Amino acid sequence: MKETLLNLLACPDCRGEIRLAQTSDTQETEIIEGLLSCAKCENEYKIERGVPCFAELEKIEEDKVETAENFGWQWNKFTQEDKKYEEQYLGWLQPVRPEFFSDKIVLEGGCGKGRHTLLAHKWGAKEIVGIDLSSAVESAFEATKHLPNAHIIQADIFSLPLKREFDYAFSIGVLHHTPDPKRAFQSLASKVKKDGHISAWIYGKENNGWITSFVDPVRTGFTSKISQPALYQLSKIPTFGVFLASKLIYRPINKASKPIASKLFYNNYLNHLGTFGWREQHNIVFDHLVAPTAFYISKEEFETWWEEIGASDVKITWHNQNSWCGFGKTSK
Ligand SMILES: [Zn+2]
Repeated sequence: MKETLLNLLACPDCRGEIRLAQTSDTQETEIIEGLLSCAKCENEYKIERGVPCFAELEKIEEDKVETAENFGWQWNKFTQEDKKYEEQYLGWLQPVRPEFFSDKIVLEGGCGKGRHTLLAHKWGAKEIVGIDLSSAVESAFEATKHLPNAHIIQADIFSLPLKREFDYAFSIGVLHHTPDPKRAFQSLASKVKKDGHISAWIYGKENNGWITSFVDPVRTGFTSKISQPALYQLSKIPTFGVFLASKLIYRPINKASKPIASKLFYNNYLNHLGTFGWREQHNIVFDHLVAPTAFYISKEEFETWWEEIGASDVKITWHNQNSWCGFGKTSK
């Protein structure tokens, strides 16, 4: 943890100032082991292996911790860097472009192993704070500690240890895996200054009836309960089907004839998947099977999220005809 992060921290319990109480190991500008304390309620928070931890995992509901840990394993296992990653990220953030990040204080709700954190830095963010509940924060810290403006925190999105100091907050593929996606979104938005901006990408309800009817029972009843190494192996079977279909059917037909392709089942998404290699597809299939909690949210429902935070200039985009990207300005 860099000491400059203190300017952005606030006690998640009482909003008091967070002070550095003790450091027992530092490496250059990083505090590796130490203790933070709240000036008001005197709560203490540890800094361990470079990451300040505000999440008391034993007090957090079991399903949240389970979700975090299942994803944490995945983020540490799938470490490949896909060249398409930047393009994919911009697809989720649309209409945001890289230059939008310039000189902004940015918050990422659910940073995983810090891939987006790195991009936010690359695109010129003034400060970037990534929070995550899972142990993936350790990978995220390792990936970003050399950057003077990147900060990683282990925290619960429902109880953020932050001041309302952010120009922009975003959350990609995380809110729908929390027990209450709308409340998680509101919590994130509460840290953005007036006239700041927020982006969110979530699973859509539209077009995903087959997932909620056929894949979800398998996920909730079986695949999210087995060990991650077992699921890693087992998920190669459906990945094999998706890989062959996307490479041998969807990509060629989409290249040959758009009108015919448009009649194929789940065409936009499977054609999009066909642009990825095996590792990335395996990661995506695994991702769909590992989470104990997943919500599929309709456009109508998503619109109410933005209304309730009083956002203006809201732009909601249908992504690959199976998910929603939202972007808006915080007006309150
Ligand atoms: Zn406090």
